[in-house]
Amino acid sequence: MSVLATAGMIRQLEAIGPFDAEACMNCGVCSAACPLGIDLLPRRLFRYALLGLGDRIHDASGPIFSCLLCRACEASCPAGVHITENVRVLRHWLLQEGS
Ligand code: SF4
Ligand code: SF4
Repeated sequence: MSVLATAGMIRQLEAIGPFDAEACMNCGVCSAACPLGIDLLPRRLFRYALLGLGDRIHDASGPIFSCLLCRACEASCPAGVHITENVRVLRHWLLQEGS
């Protein structure tokens, strides 16, 4: 994936709403806090977005739409990432893309 394609995806996401995935340290604390045990969310999803891997995000549409937006992950995130807002942005992007 080229740098331009990567930047293009982030621009698309930020056009939908604030998307602060770059603050994620990939520590995994959020996955441990998730009541659904959604391992995919959010750290891998944020990496996919930052790397411009739209196909991987499409493949993860099930977990993205299963998220309860309960903020349990956000409450324990040491980096203060706005996880649920990022998930909302990813949902909106998927709907725009026709997923
Ligand atoms: S807890 Fe926060 S910093 Fe850690 S992986 Fe999850 S979103 Fe990233
Ligand atoms: S908002 Fe709730 S359901 Fe969604 S990833 Fe975070 S802890 Fe899991």
